[in-house]
Amino acid sequence: VCINNRIATEDSRLSPSPNAEDAATNRKEYKHMPETLITVDLEESPHTNDKIHNRWHPDIPIVEWVEPGADFIVEAYDWTGSQIKNDDDAADVRDVELPQVHYLSGPIGVKGAEPGDLLVVDLLDVGPLNRSLWGFNGVFSKNNGGGFLTEHFPEAQKTIWDFEGMYTSSRHVPDVHFAGLIHPGLIGTLPSHEMLKTWNSREKVLYDTNPARVPALAELPNTQSAHMGRMTGDARDAAAAEAARTLPPRENGGNCDIKDLSRGSKIWFPVNVDGGGLSMGDTHFSQGDGEITFCGGIEMASWLHVKVNLIKDGVAKYGVKNPMFKPSPTTPNYDDYIIFEGVSVDCQGKQHYLDTTEAYRQACLNAITYMTKFGYSREQALAILGTAPVQGHISGVVDYPNACATLWLPTDIFKNDMMPCADGPTKYLDGSVKVPVAPDL
Ligand code: ZN
Repeated sequence: VCINNRIATEDSRLSPSPNAEDAATNRKEYKHMPETLITVDLEESPHTNDKIHNRWHPDIPIVEWVEPGADFIVEAYDWTGSQIKNDDDAADVRDVELPQVHYLSGPIGVKGAEPGDLLVVDLLDVGPLNRSLWGFNGVFSKNNGGGFLTEHFPEAQKTIWDFEGMYTSSRHVPDVHFAGLIHPGLIGTLPSHEMLKTWNSREKVLYDTNPARVPALAELPNTQSAHMGRMTGDARDAAAAEAARTLPPRENGGNCDIKDLSRGSKIWFPVNVDGGGLSMGDTHFSQGDGEITFCGGIEMASWLHVKVNLIKDGVAKYGVKNPMFKPSPTTPNYDDYIIFEGVSVDCQGKQHYLDTTEAYRQACLNAITYMTKFGYSREQALAILGTAPVQGHISGVVDYPNACATLWLPTDIFKNDMMPCADGPTKYLDGSVKVPVAPDL
C-alpha cells in the first residue's frame, strides 16, 4: 500500500495539472519549432524560387535577416536541383547540366555583421526532407564533369540510396548498410567585390595554362543557367557574367565537402560583406573522404536547423583566413578498418614528387581491386568509396619522392567478412545486381 501510494503521489506530480491556467502557463515554457525561413518545392524548378542562387557574388540580395542568437530552419534542393531521378538509368547523370550547380539556399543576413567579423554557425541538426527519403551517388562521364578516377571510370554511373531513419542502403550495392554522417557539402558566406576579383583572376591564370583540357582546369564565370537570387535586369546580367562558380572551396568556405562538418558542428566563417550572407546546400546523407565519385556523396534534398552568432572583429582577433570548425559530438561509431596504402607512383609507373593526390588515388584503386575479390563490381566498389564513411588520411609528405596516403575502409558496413584469411576471399556476390551505367552517346 505504501509503495502504491508513493507511486501515485509521484504520478500526480508528473501528470499535467488539471487546472487550465497552469496548463497554459506550462505550455508557454515549451520551446517552439524554429521558423522555416526558406522552403523548396521539389516539383518546381529552383529558378522559380528567389531564395535560391547558384553563383557567388557580393550583390546577391539577402533574402532573410535574423538577429544574432537566432535559430531557424532552411530547406535545400539537392545540388543539381532535382535533375537526377530515383530510377535505374544513369542517362540523367551522363546528361546533367553542370552550369546549374550548386543550388544554394540563402543568402541569410545576420544583423550587425560587418566585414572582419566571424560568423558563428551552429549546425544544430540536418536531415533529409520527409517527402524525399532517398539520395543518389553518381559518377560523371569523362566528357561531362569527369572526376577523381575518370581515367579508370570514364562512363556515367548512378546508385540510388534509400534512407531508413539514420541508416541507408542501396538496391544497386548488395550487403552494405551504414549510418549516415549527414552534412552540407557546401556552406559559406558571400565574397566581397575585391575577393571575387581575386578568385576570378587566379582561376583564369590556371585555366589559360591548358584551355583545351577536358575536364577543364577551372570553371570560369558562365551565365548559362545562372540563378542570381533576387537580382533582376541589367544588374543581374552584369553580376552573372562575373559571378564565381560554386564548384571549388575558397576562403568563404563554400564547396568543401567535408564529411565531418556534420550535424552538431560549429563553424566560424570570415564575414566579407555587411550581414555576412550565409548560404548552404549540397547536403549529403553520407560521403567518403575526398568525395571521389564527384557526383557526389549520397546527394539529397534536405532541411538544416542552424543557429547564428557573431564574434565582432574575430578575423583579426583569431587570425582567420579560411573557415574553422568544431566537429559533431555524435558520429557513427565505425572503428574497425582495412587500411589501404598508396604512394605517388601512377598507373603507368611514373614517379611523382610528393603528390598526395596521386597517392590517395592509388590507395583508392587498391581498395577497389580488393573489393572485387569478394564479388563487388568495380562500379559498386567505387560507389562504396564515394558514399560510405571511409576515411582518407595524408600519412607522409616528407619522404621524397613518395607521398603516402591511406584509405580507411570500415569493415562493419559490410554484411560479410571482408578480412584477408589463409583460405582466400569468398565471392559473396554472383554479379546479378548491377550498377546502372550510361555510356556516352
Ligand atoms: Zn555533393
